[in-house]
Amino acid sequence: MTITKAEVLDWLRAYGQVIEDQKDYLTELDSVIGDADHGANMHRGFKAVLVKLPSVEDKDIGTILKTVGMTLLSTVGGAGGPLYSTLFIQAGNMLNGKEEMTLSDWAAALEAAKIGVVKLGKAEPGDKTMVDALTPAVEVLRKATENGHTTSDALEESAQAAKEGMEATIPLVARKGRASYLGERSAGHQDPGATSSFMLLETAVKVWARKE
Ligand code: ADP
Ligand code: MG
Repeated sequence: MTITKAEVLDWLRAYGQVIEDQKDYLTELDSVIGDADHGANMHRGFKAVLVKLPSVEDKDIGTILKTVGMTLLSTVGGAGGPLYSTLFIQAGNMLNGKEEMTLSDWAAALEAAKIGVVKLGKAEPGDKTMVDALTPAVEVLRKATENGHTTSDALEESAQAAKEGMEATIPLVARKGRASYLGERSAGHQDPGATSSFMLLETAVKVWARKE
């Protein structure tokens, strides 16, 4: 089963809506261990993405995702902007020229996205960042793909792994980003970027998973 370009566009629009709905929650998480702007940053970025999408919706999936990344780069500052920009650009690079993608295409794209984020931000798993949600999601997705799980099951398993990774940031002491300025006081709070990353994969399940 493949994921079509139309479904990729639906996913991006749905994520824009999730961010709109969850911006206060994301900002609240960032107010505790950061500077209270993660929801506002993501919202500003995805509002611009939604405006931009119609101009590229007849292009291939790679171009669409790279356009998302470029738009985020030009509208969102701080750490989150360039990191999410890299995530979409690297995923897009893996999907150049594609009008639809297989589950293993998506697994490769998500892996490239995670590698890009790690390269730019230099965070490792356990540093209390979005990498803590992305890393298990990538690993579980790769295994599910190799083991022939259905697309729906694989997406669900991947989002569940991201959720667990997100929740596992709560007790951690931050070692990267603004939250690291708090040292031990960052423990006990969920990382905002891990939360928005989980939401990205959860939205993929909602939009792409279906009965097979
Ligand atoms: P800023 O920290 O500049 O205010 P945001 O609030 O939009 O940017 O994003 C904060 C999130 O970015 C954090 O919750 C964390 O998940 C992520 N982040 C910060 N620094 C890094 C890094 N070096 N590597 C990976 N992710 C990071
Ligand atoms: Mg912030």
